[in-house]
Amino acid sequence: MTRQTKIVATLGPATSTEDSLEQLVAAGVDLVRLNLSHGDHAEHRARAELVRAAAKAAGRTVGILCDLQGPKIRIERFAEGPIELEEGAAFFIDPAFDADGGHIEGVGVAYAGLPQDVAPGDTLLLADGLVQLRVERIDGTRIHTIVETAGRLSDRKGINRLGGGLSVRALTEKDRADIKLAAELNADYLAVSFPRDGADIEEARALLREAGGHAGIVAKIERHEAVAAITEIMQAADAVMIARGDLAVEIGDAELPGVQKRIMRFARKNDCVVITATQMMQSMVDNPMPTRAEVLDVANAVLDGTDAVMLSEETAVGHYPAETVAAMARVCVGAEGYADEASAPAGIAPETQFDRIDEAIAKTAITAANTLGVKAIAALTESGATALWMSRMATGIPIYALSEQPRTLSRVTLYRGVYPISFDPTMRDHDAVNRESVAELRALGAVDGDDLVLITKGDLAGVRGGTNAMKVVRVSDQITG
Ligand code: PGA
Ligand code: MN
Repeated sequence: MTRQTKIVATLGPATSTEDSLEQLVAAGVDLVRLNLSHGDHAEHRARAELVRAAAKAAGRTVGILCDLQGPKIRIERFAEGPIELEEGAAFFIDPAFDADGGHIEGVGVAYAGLPQDVAPGDTLLLADGLVQLRVERIDGTRIHTIVETAGRLSDRKGINRLGGGLSVRALTEKDRADIKLAAELNADYLAVSFPRDGADIEEARALLREAGGHAGIVAKIERHEAVAAITEIMQAADAVMIARGDLAVEIGDAELPGVQKRIMRFARKNDCVVITATQMMQSMVDNPMPTRAEVLDVANAVLDGTDAVMLSEETAVGHYPAETVAAMARVCVGAEGYADEASAPAGIAPETQFDRIDEAIAKTAITAANTLGVKAIAALTESGATALWMSRMATGIPIYALSEQPRTLSRVTLYRGVYPISFDPTMRDHDAVNRESVAELRALGAVDGDDLVLITKGDLAGVRGGTNAMKVVRVSDQITG
């Protein structure tokens, strides 16, 4: 059975050689993530080249996602190494304090606006929530706190506020430089970290276009505000990432499962693509097998309708990168076998009003395909939109996106149940397009004999948004000679 759910793997020191990337591609990675929080431009350039070469050698399309660091607020450094904070102790955070002079009573912070963003009674979470501080009072630039949860604190640890509300802008100076790198690398997706609203997404898109990039924009949902603004964020973005690492710190881990499920359901309904990320198979950083809980986590995301599952440290710094991808692939396929429990709509709700012909064809085609027992769907598509709409519906039938646009082929690597095929429909009549698309599927071993194939296409080949027809053909009738 072909796996429907896509796998995104973060690259890092563990996956920087030709050999390790070949193994990752062979294990089934669909997209790689270049995490711009770490490493320099030369490193990312080198990895992008190696991945493309490995994909080409394997005859596969592998997308590239560049992930911006974003405005993660961090404390500055300690003069004499890490400190151990004790419960009930006083501790200050002060942007005007010596950046290298932190000690047991206080530390600097890289964000000058922090004293304006917090109020007495707030809880600040440091080092992913390991250390918790309660704000007592603010004195000029100095935030005085009391340690509520004791722990060890070292240089440059992150700060979140419980409940969100830090007003820092989403795109930093570094992000602006990194957007140019994403354009230069011809990335397929650009992930924006810590966006608050749709405007942050629009701004990233505008900067990317200005730099000549064509990537789709992924909004990372990792702030309280982003959960509240999910409707406008989904309208502005091409995809969302449930960035569970930071999100859990901001909203509390008890809220996370419910919010994850809600975002997923909402994404499908709003024609948005969704990636589930962080600690999915964390124990595989050190072990060759996932825990049962991790198996359940990946499977639940699949059953809830995620497009993709993502690996972070597991493939970036882990000891078993290819094994982790293989384990994830196996668990995805297993869960997809129970996909009748997935939460995508199986048909068109009676109150639906389409305002686009192509969308109506794409979505109703799935009902036709499901009810006819079609073996495969061939969507001839310029932009990939037809395949995206189809993949928002519940179906176990593979959707092949046939396009002559390389950008579209690598964009659909993220869509659940959609597989790219390079195909140029121009200068062919309709019968030839039917015949040759079926021939492509047959060559892949996807269909044969009396199988039915559903084809969607436009009267004018090669036009964006031109899909206005659906055909169902029998393979045996399309074989000539
Ligand atoms: P990060 O984003 O790995 O860039 O922090 C994902 C997350 O926060 O879960
Ligand atoms: Mn994050």
